[in-house]
Amino acid sequence: MMSMDELRFCRALADEALLARLKTLVVQEQRHLAGVLASLGEVDRRRLFSPRGFESMFEYCVSELRYSEGAAYRRIHAARAARDFPEILSYLADGILSLSAVSLLAPHLTPENRADLLTRAQGKRKRELERMIAEFLPLPPPQADSIRYVAPASIQGGGAGGDAEGADHFDLGTSSVVPSATGGLPPSPGANPAAPAGQSRPSESGPPIQEDGPLLDRGGPASAARVRFSFTASETLLRAVERARELLRHKHPLARLEDIFCEVLLEYLSRHDPGRRLRRRRTRPRARAGGAASSRRVPQWVRDRVWERDQGRCSFRAADGRRCEARAWLEFDHVRPYALGGASDDPANVRLLCRAHKVLQ
Ligand SMILES: [Zn+2]
Repeated sequence: MMSMDELRFCRALADEALLARLKTLVVQEQRHLAGVLASLGEVDRRRLFSPRGFESMFEYCVSELRYSEGAAYRRIHAARAARDFPEILSYLADGILSLSAVSLLAPHLTPENRADLLTRAQGKRKRELERMIAEFLPLPPPQADSIRYVAPASIQGGGAGGDAEGADHFDLGTSSVVPSATGGLPPSPGANPAAPAGQSRPSESGPPIQEDGPLLDRGGPASAARVRFSFTASETLLRAVERARELLRHKHPLARLEDIFCEVLLEYLSRHDPGRRLRRRRTRPRARAGGAASSRRVPQWVRDRVWERDQGRCSFRAADGRRCEARAWLEFDHVRPYALGGASDDPANVRLLCRAHKVLQ
């Protein structure tokens, strides 16, 4: 009932009033969170969960307080850290640090580094925080690259961990940063019974990818076989992957690593593999000779010009002058629609817009 009234109330608010209300509520939410963590930490300290029939604070939070596992995990870690370092509560209450930031930092805080870490963490996003924490930790031993076939059973049975198919995760080499409840499953030696001999190959150090193997050939017969790749890499690769993800967002909305790597590698091969290049040249229609004068399609030279002018960002500006920050989901948009006679080959009539702002136009 309450939420119905809330919805009706919000719908009736003017834009400015709605935004102001949201801000006020978020401030209250942060204060509440600090209060929740203080209480939760004290319940934990007194072990009040135990006489009430719960084996752990985690069980109590999930079963009695109805938090999701992730939410319980973050709150318990943050509450315990706040018992040792009470300033965390005021950072949370003032919205200076987020709950996920605190739970990431919690296992690494010491009386010596607390001031430094808590200050440097302010305003950082999750990835930046993980990077910052990684700098504090000793480097993990270098891992050998591995490419191995995965037994179908281990793909389907992914319900327990966060490691199921489709859930790529970036791990910055600080395995303790990943919540242990959902962290990577240890590679069990018997996990690979179905792989044919010679195909399961944890490669030691040599370059394990074949030149033009069936794995990379989309034209080949469809196979349900799945392969797990694992390697550690530099931040150069991380940045390149993130950039490719942004650029490919249209084609691959889920931005799975599999799609990104596949797309980029096939593109590389089609350009540099002599056999493929010849095939492509033979099948490519002889275009661009004529008939391109009027087309909805924005030609490449205009795309390049517009991309440079708009700095690869959505060009939308709000009434208060704030420019949209989006660098993904970008589309080339006709300022005057093509259907209304707007030109595609005039950079002045083309702009970059993100999806949200394309809809607005
Ligand atoms: Zn935008």
